[in-house]
Order: sequence, then structure tokens, then C-alpha cells
Amino acid sequence: MNCPECDATLTLDADLIEGEIVPCADCGAELEVIATQPLALALAPEIEEDWGE
Ligand SMILES: [Zn+2]
Repeated sequence: MNCPECDATLTLDADLIEGEIVPCADCGAELEVIATQPLALALAPEIEEDWGE
């Protein structure tokens, strides 16, 4: 699996879950696990959710 942003090879845990955010160590992009079987990643939205404070 490569980073969709910078094409760096990603080292991923085997037990990733859908919806998990995985940061790319190379470019810092946040990648969301959109599927696990097979594994698929997508760039997470850059806008942070407002979780309330
Ligand atoms: Zn990257």
C-alpha cells in the first residue's frame, strides 16, 4: 500500500479498522481507512471536525 499523496510505501498495522486515520510518515498526510477487505485508503479531509470543546 502506497500513500495516495506522495506514493511513499506505508507500513500499516494488520488490524486496521474502517474509519481509522493513518498518518503518512513521509508527507504527513492523514489517510482514512475506507475499506479493509481489500484495504483501501483515501486522503482524509483537511478540515478538522468540530467536536465541541
Ligand atoms: Zn505521503
